[in-house]
Amino acid sequence: MIFNLLLHSGLYEWHKSVFLDELPEYKRSAFKRFIIATESGLDELPEYKRSALEVMRQPLEDRKITVARTKQTVDYPASFMLVAAMNPCPCGHYGENNPAHPCTCTPAQIHRYLSRISGPLMDRIDIQCEIEAVPYDQLRDTTPSESSAVMRERVMRARAIQQQRFAGSPLIHCNAQMSAKMVRQYCTLDPESDKLLEFTITKLGLSARAYDRILKVARTIADLEGAENIQKKHLLESISYRSLDRSNWGG
Ligand SMILES: [Zn+2]
Repeated sequence: MIFNLLLHSGLYEWHKSVFLDELPEYKRSAFKRFIIATESGLDELPEYKRSALEVMRQPLEDRKITVARTKQTVDYPASFMLVAAMNPCPCGHYGENNPAHPCTCTPAQIHRYLSRISGPLMDRIDIQCEIEAVPYDQLRDTTPSESSAVMRERVMRARAIQQQRFAGSPLIHCNAQMSAKMVRQYCTLDPESDKLLEFTITKLGLSARAYDRILKVARTIADLEGAENIQKKHLLESISYRSLDRSNWGG
């Protein structure tokens, strides 16, 4: 996670002493808890203080952390993959429609819970999926699913395509790292898909950042299929991964 690099490079102690000491006390304790939490992943995302979560915005966008001091500003590389999970409400049962476990939260409690994840932070998360409870018959399903080894093969093929694509750009290794200019170059759409994306962005009020991220994910979905161009189905799948954008996020 963000601070693994600092920890492993021995820079953490310096960073902690300089950066944490400059934070106000209320932010400092939240930040320390956040650093500890990032060592094991971010489950129950809204349980972290909003101020601690907000520090992820810069590295999620720029893949670096900037420490500004009086005399100089230092950038540390902080390229990481954020994987986080959260419940739909404090009790965890909102939207399940299960009479045995009705949601006991008030609308105000749910709003307060969700609003700990700000809109701008959510905007920087490429893939957002709502996971429903697994029905009993599916729990007993013995049909073999695709193995991790087969999935890995597909991922490695897609990464090879991307390495070839960015062979002339030594600092770019995968679609996620594309600049806005590269997105225009490598994520071209046919007229029908272009209309679909325009409709989606306008209708859902998505940001320019979301536009770029939808195209990058669509490019990766096409790469996983070995398709040269982004097709409408790839774009539709990518749009479906912005499901929490469509829920009028309360941040
Ligand atoms: Zn609830």
